[in-house]
Amino acid sequence: MEKIGKILFTKEDIEKRIKELGEEISLDYKDKDLILACVLKGAVYFTVDLTRNIKIPFILDFISILSYGSSKNNQGIVRITKDLDINILGKDVLIIEDIVDTGLTLSYLIRNLQTRNPRSIKVCTLLDCPGRRIIDIEVDYKGFEIPNYYVIGYGLDYKEKYRNLPFIAILEEF
Ligand code: 5GP
Repeated sequence: MEKIGKILFTKEDIEKRIKELGEEISLDYKDKDLILACVLKGAVYFTVDLTRNIKIPFILDFISILSYGSSKNNQGIVRITKDLDINILGKDVLIIEDIVDTGLTLSYLIRNLQTRNPRSIKVCTLLDCPGRRIIDIEVDYKGFEIPNYYVIGYGLDYKEKYRNLPFIAILEEF
């Protein structure tokens, strides 16, 4: 069985940080052609709240990726199950992720999108867990850095549950 453990970030912590990220992105992309590429499903809550804090025009699109193995045991085999709808040629793509862990998913995604010749690709993740990295990937914007925990809430799931928690907490198993 599992249960909701210690809360790492409250609803208020998350709101405050997302406001700051939105301001930063609005400044950095003010003369660019911004496309937000939200990675389903975990980044949905983050993306929606982030878009409310971005004050420049942008296009929002979604991509869905299947990583084989469970989300707790990523084996680095990745497949796109729903692609972006729009053409990113010459555009400034900002990938929106829930968490960068091993970096395997993101590394695959960046390589795939690069073949479509966008002008730029950057990454914005809500959570960054550098302690679990297998592939050396730098993120450009991050909400919070976390130690090596499995976390749930605010879009992040355990077996598809707990996405609707308004906070981010550690998953405890017993
Ligand atoms: P990667 O290991 O490839 O960087 O992480 C890929 C995906 O695994 C993330 O986008 C996320 O969906 C899932 N994942 C990794 N760590 C966690 C975690 O601590 N909690 C949850 N709920 N999902 C995670």
